[in-house]
Amino acid sequence: MNIDMVKFVAKWRQSIKNTRAETPGYSHALRSELKRLKTFECLETYSSWSPEEMAENGFYSTGINSSMQCFCCGLVLCTMSISKTPYVCHQKSRPDCDFIKGIDVGNIPKYEVKVQRGEVVVVERVDAYRSEEFRLESFKDWPFYSKTDPASLAAAGFFFTGVKDRVQCCCCGGALANWEVDDDPWKEHCKWFPE
Ligand SMILES: [Zn+2]
Ligand SMILES: [Zn+2]
Repeated sequence: MNIDMVKFVAKWRQSIKNTRAETPGYSHALRSELKRLKTFECLETYSSWSPEEMAENGFYSTGINSSMQCFCCGLVLCTMSISKTPYVCHQKSRPDCDFIKGIDVGNIPKYEVKVQRGEVVVVERVDAYRSEEFRLESFKDWPFYSKTDPASLAAAGFFFTGVKDRVQCCCCGGALANWEVDDDPWKEHCKWFPE
């Protein structure tokens, strides 16, 4: 890697730190609706809201009594309203939550899959992406919510398509998205496109 690329990666890491400082409640690990749903598994108390609707509206269980928190804005709710839905309570308490506003904050819906089919970007300069440095440059606007390192993605053959956190391989053309905290780009590449 040349000096510019090293600087770029350092800058990207810093921007993630800054974003986290601005939104202290944001949880990268709980972007996934399925993971949020799992946190409600040991909820014993009688609940007027179903775990499904809580997870769908951004909430995960904090493990403390029956309180829940939004993965995006960090809002904590300690009680469940009987008359209002989780969406309405969330929206009333935090009208400025980007998730509630419908902005792409990296939420991974329950039925969303990693392999992206039928939406593969046709890149005119696909040959250029055979260069790792070119691939790395494509990650300039890599979304803050993805903790997967652009350097490791570029090293595994991926370039950024510019849509959400969707990347594509420069060789086999395979496209992946919805990167979770522990995902390893090489392993995911081999797992889904074992050619
Ligand atoms: Zn929120
Ligand atoms: Zn490939």
